[in-house]
Amino acid sequence: MRALFVRHALLPEGWRRDVLLEWDAYGDLTRVEAEAAAPLGVARADYVLPGMVNLHSHAFQRALGGLTERAGEGPDSFWTWRDLMYRFAARITPEQIEAIAAQLFVECLRHGYTSLCEFHYLQRGPDGQAYARPAETAERVAAAGHATGMGLTLLPVLYSHAGFGEQPLRPEQRRFRTNVDDILGIAEALQPLRGGQLEVGAAPHSLRAATIGQVRELASGLPAGRPLHIHIAEQQAEVEQSIAFSGRRPVQNLMEQVEVDARWCLVHATHLDDAEVQAIARSGAVAGLCPTTEANLGDGLFPLQRFIALGGRFGIGSDSHVSQSPVEELRWLEYGQRLVHQRRNVAFTNEQRDVGQYLWQAALRGGAQAAGRKVGALREGLRADLLVLDGSHPNLDGVAEADVLGRFLFCGNDNLVRDVLCGGRWVVQGGRHVAQDAVTQRYRQAMIELRDSSEVGQ
Ligand code: ZN
Repeated sequence: MRALFVRHALLPEGWRRDVLLEWDAYGDLTRVEAEAAAPLGVARADYVLPGMVNLHSHAFQRALGGLTERAGEGPDSFWTWRDLMYRFAARITPEQIEAIAAQLFVECLRHGYTSLCEFHYLQRGPDGQAYARPAETAERVAAAGHATGMGLTLLPVLYSHAGFGEQPLRPEQRRFRTNVDDILGIAEALQPLRGGQLEVGAAPHSLRAATIGQVRELASGLPAGRPLHIHIAEQQAEVEQSIAFSGRRPVQNLMEQVEVDARWCLVHATHLDDAEVQAIARSGAVAGLCPTTEANLGDGLFPLQRFIALGGRFGIGSDSHVSQSPVEELRWLEYGQRLVHQRRNVAFTNEQRDVGQYLWQAALRGGAQAAGRKVGALREGLRADLLVLDGSHPNLDGVAEADVLGRFLFCGNDNLVRDVLCGGRWVVQGGRHVAQDAVTQRYRQAMIELRDSSEVGQ
């Protein structure tokens, strides 16, 4: 049956009671009616949220999570982590990419993500040669999405240079090498996979790996309206190199030389001056924030409070997948700000002073825009993506409706997501993904193979 009767559902305008949800065979919501009469024979739920969008992922990095937490001889940094990640990426096969992505998607779905944007830069074989099918590895990620039910935005990544000023790629970057034509070709090859559960955009990796001219060429070559993502100012060193090369900071450079609009998602827009904060907010682009990865890599903190005050749009991503939970991303997004400002309750507006509700709804709006898919709310015509919370958990027992998101985001570590509907399909039931056992078995096999072929994890 394609219907659910919900006692408390989070709609775009806030919590509503007795909401009847119906969806069609294609997976789109066809009815969202509050204060409805309970129909006979329809399944019921206590608390329902729209599924969250994960706007930034490198799926294969899931296999590295927790394996790079040992101090080296000198100070460890983003750049020493990246060397380890490169060694890992050098060996991975298309089959292993698919197995790792499927495991990741199962975990993300179980924790409440129903959409994910894959920033996909591993395009070539281990020797640097193109696969017979140029979209081979992206198609493997799509297959993992199909098998697990995860909604995807595939973003093949333009990666031409090792640093500002068109520095030649290093040998360990040979699997990432692409030019604008390669990326437009991969996007074209993925065209038949587009549909309710999958969109295709593109991503210049960064202004280190792609020139301004290439970024413009890619943006104009991609069909209108498709999402464009870029890593922009993750590290202080990147900002310094950008200034040394162009006389401009990375965000300033992008904003001044490329037409950045609502198609764009600026990932890790971490190091900004106030003019850059204003420029992003004005452009309508989404700031892609990945608090657990940014913390893990020692990146820095985004000026969230100022950005919210300017009406900026943002969403969350799990990036390197040290966490697969939107609860943890949003909790640390808020906690990072509290620690910096030495005060409580930072992420809110005058219209929405409840921090949990503000964060969930704002991350949904920004995430949906960045994904370029019909997601992000329980609204007729959008995808039927929703989370049923465990109403029998002590944290939700007898709690007022207005406190549900506060409990969900800021209390404890149990996963309160019980069932997940994604694109009109129940993919998680009673806390378990319907394909979990088979997916995890393939992942284990992939990890054994990778351990045998690399020093990572030994
Ligand atoms: Zn990234």
